[in-house]
Amino acid sequence: MSETFLPELPQELWRAGKLELAHGVQQSLRVIRMATAGLGRYLAEVESRGVKDLYGYGRTAAWFADIAGLSVGEAGAVVKRAIALNPSRALDGSEVPAALPATAAVAAEGLVGDERIDQILEILKRLPADTSVEDRANAEKILATLARNAGPRQLADAEANLLALLDPDGDEPKDPEPAEPRREITLERRKDGFWKLTGLLDDETGARTAAALEAYAQPRPVDEFGQADLRMKCERMGDAWVDLLDLAIACPDQPGASGYRTLVNVTIGLEELKSGLGTACLDFVGTMTAREARLAACDCLMLPVVLNAAGEPLDVGRLRRFVTPGQRRALNIRDGGCAFPGCHRKPKNCHAHHIHHWADGGPTDLRNLVLLCGFHHRLIHHGDWEVRMAADGLPEFIPPQYRDPLRHPRRNTLHHA
Ligand SMILES: [Zn+2]
Ligand SMILES: [Zn+2]
Repeated sequence: MSETFLPELPQELWRAGKLELAHGVQQSLRVIRMATAGLGRYLAEVESRGVKDLYGYGRTAAWFADIAGLSVGEAGAVVKRAIALNPSRALDGSEVPAALPATAAVAAEGLVGDERIDQILEILKRLPADTSVEDRANAEKILATLARNAGPRQLADAEANLLALLDPDGDEPKDPEPAEPRREITLERRKDGFWKLTGLLDDETGARTAAALEAYAQPRPVDEFGQADLRMKCERMGDAWVDLLDLAIACPDQPGASGYRTLVNVTIGLEELKSGLGTACLDFVGTMTAREARLAACDCLMLPVVLNAAGEPLDVGRLRRFVTPGQRRALNIRDGGCAFPGCHRKPKNCHAHHIHHWADGGPTDLRNLVLLCGFHHRLIHHGDWEVRMAADGLPEFIPPQYRDPLRHPRRNTLHHA
């Protein structure tokens, strides 16, 4: 892209002729648009590298909003355009071409503004789902070329022509009319710290939700002490919801999470975190017990912000506490699933528990980590079971005295049978 500078303003604008005024407006506009295209390239690069790693923000839009003094919504629109117009890199470093290359070229010349770019994005979204990649690319080229000189009306006309071409019977009334999907979810935090979840789902979404929850809501098999799963159906469904959340949050494709599983900050004093006594402050919503915060901080289910006695943020093991993807893979292979004796849960349903909590100086390395499902993670933090690393480098569990007076260490043999 060639560099362009703002046209020099005539000293006495009132003397300028009408042609000169019009030219000044056009030239200024073009400079703004070229600068916006350049800004987009920077933003796309930040997004590609991961804004979490670079600046510690969860989303590029949030970071840009802070820098630019914009609302997150305003910043989000700029970032969305930047991502559509610029190439990015996949995890393996290979380049992924821009979604709208032709539009990007016109935008880089300063010949098209944000509104037309958004319009092109929207039109391409409305093309029939079965449009081939080639037809889609051609449509984008046509729209981008047109946008150099056209306004919104002409682009809308072009959309109608494209649709007629790509989906000739698209305007035929389809019989019966498919119902609009309808789904609503309301979440409310009550004064007692519990959340009330209510919602309304269309038939298909409801059936899929039930299937997804029920797959995780099966009663646990009777354990080796003959203890059956005593949870009620609604409690099992609630636990299944947590499993689904963990899966979604751990998914690297989750928007804005940059591969980290943490979305919520929990602010807690160092003393409270170490002792598990007292309270912690949860982002925007209120307090939770320090005991719960200690559990959430263990595998960084929430991002802990630890404060010293004076209320200043501390940097307790900030770099150490995140389990790296490589460590996690090694852990998955070593433990094969929840390491608790008799538990069937697979690695994808597990947290990486720090045997010696990182807040107490425990390192984030394999000899201090063990895979535990959500249920057993909670049990280890809150119950009387203990876990330790045996001499052979594998975790073993010591039952509470009321289960086994001699407290013989036990292991899970299900995953490596
Ligand atoms: Zn833990
Ligand atoms: Zn388990």
